[in-house]
Amino acid sequence: MRNPYCGSATGYLYGCTCLSCARAHADYHADYRHRRQGSTSTAAGRYAAPWTPQEDALLQARDGLSVASLALVLGRTYYAVRARITRLNRQEVTA
Ligand SMILES: [Zn+2]
Repeated sequence: MRNPYCGSATGYLYGCTCLSCARAHADYHADYRHRRQGSTSTAAGRYAAPWTPQEDALLQARDGLSVASLALVLGRTYYAVRARITRLNRQEVTA
């Protein structure tokens, strides 16, 4: 039986596995990632620079600041900050 959400914007998220729902979701998500990264990448002056203890401290104390705001404050990209927070939470950071 056809998924009742097939063909809608949320078809894939509601479990429709047809190719066009999967593609629509992939396109939407790629665009979303692009917008996230693009909103911070032009200001990311510290792109690929080693993380400092001060930066890590700010991420750990972040006090409700959004990832996008932290990225702009630190001169990092959105996904750099998100990945660093994940690592700090998993305590993979040794330095
Ligand atoms: Zn579908």
